[in-house]
Amino acid sequence: MRLRPRHLRARLTLWYVSVLAALLIFAWVGTCALLFFQMRNQIDSFSIQEIETVEGLFFFAPDGRLQLREDYHNHPQSKEVIDRFLEVLSPGGAVLLRNAKLRGQSLGGGPFRGEGVGGYSERSDRLPDGTRVRLVSRVHSLDGRPLLIRLAHSQEPLFSRLRELSAASLVVLPLVLGIAGFAGYGLARRALSPIEEMARRAQEITPDRLDARLPNENSEDELGQLARVFNHTLARLEKAFEQLRRFTSDASHELRTPLAMIRSVGEVGLQRDGTREEYRDMVGSMLEEVNRLTSLIDNLLTISRADSGHIHLHPAVIPVMDLAREATGLFEILMEEKSQRLVLEGDERAQVEGDRLFMRQAFVNIVHNAVKYSPVGETILVRVRNGDNRVIVEIQDHGPGIPFEDQTRVFDRFYRVDKARWRESGGAGLGLSIAKWAVEAHGGAITLNSEPNEGCLFRITLPAVRPLEPVG
Ligand code: ADP
Repeated sequence: MRLRPRHLRARLTLWYVSVLAALLIFAWVGTCALLFFQMRNQIDSFSIQEIETVEGLFFFAPDGRLQLREDYHNHPQSKEVIDRFLEVLSPGGAVLLRNAKLRGQSLGGGPFRGEGVGGYSERSDRLPDGTRVRLVSRVHSLDGRPLLIRLAHSQEPLFSRLRELSAASLVVLPLVLGIAGFAGYGLARRALSPIEEMARRAQEITPDRLDARLPNENSEDELGQLARVFNHTLARLEKAFEQLRRFTSDASHELRTPLAMIRSVGEVGLQRDGTREEYRDMVGSMLEEVNRLTSLIDNLLTISRADSGHIHLHPAVIPVMDLAREATGLFEILMEEKSQRLVLEGDERAQVEGDRLFMRQAFVNIVHNAVKYSPVGETILVRVRNGDNRVIVEIQDHGPGIPFEDQTRVFDRFYRVDKARWRESGGAGLGLSIAKWAVEAHGGAITLNSEPNEGCLFRITLPAVRPLEPVG
């Protein structure tokens, strides 16, 4: 059986009513206890006063019996004494006097050790007929004979007052709890209604409607904060979806072009008979497109694995000059064909820590661009500097440069400054974005300085690793 209410407002009300009930019961019990003990103390102090009064009224009759003075009715306070239970015992327990109100019953039985000696002894007791009494005793000496005076008040009125109070509470408490529960439920309902509205609106948000936002009536309160955080998440989600959509459409677009080339070369080849040489050329240009496709797919894979966080870096200490030599070495033939010259200079001790494969990829992509976009006969400069806990690698060319308005966007995926140049240079606009990702994944940064027709200067900054000091 499910006892937990389904709705939060019902659960809140239940909690609220339970806590209120516990507090009211606690307050009620506390009040009753306080009242009871206060009244009992009051009774005790009345009893003490009355014992003091009655002490002066005792006398021994000529026959030796203990008696109360006849004129005690003239004493206004002593008049009350007859309304109390009064008993006087000898220290041995013999009853010397018992007033009429006791109707022959014993008040508290035989004396106990030290009862009423040197002060007043207070206790609660029951008469044989069941009446609950509060009893005060005191030893008094009359004509040299010790008397144990016991005076008691009935506690029954006190208990009946408590019973009345309990009965009243049994009616009032459920009434108060009912009203509080009703009001609490209304309040909880009202306070939670914006959440219901949010849930309704959130339910309407689908991948096609990621531009929808939750209502935010008061951005200062908790619900406003919730809406703000949720809207913030939605905005990020929308951006991520948009990026993904753009990436997918750009990727398919980029893949379509080489495929269309392969297809058209193939179709042309099938339409007419050619010489062996012509077929070789066709197969050659098809393979060129296949190579392009392969490198494009490799790049796409790297990007999507980087996005999903599935790339595990294998860090190692890398001498940066070695890496730069390795990366630039790949373009020796290409540079020779373009009569370009490479100047590689810098600090041989510069070291960084990182995944050699991805660091190399970053260097290769930037150097490749420098070679690709620099005109024939130009010089490409690669400089490695070490210092201030950082290693700086600069790759400078004297090509056409990148216009100022494109400089921040060249690191975006599929972004090419001159779209028409694509076929001849062979890039899909992914090289720099991969380089940026690789550098940033190693705690570094990459910047670009370029003036039109002055060439580009790419600067990679990475945290340095200190070379080991030679031993001895
Ligand atoms: P791609 O593979 O097209 O070269 P990149 O991401 O490497 O893609 O570069 C993006 C764009 O930035 C290139 O298409 C090119 O227009 C421009 N670019 C990059 N490097 C250079 C450079 N050294 N000189 C001139 N333009 C460059």
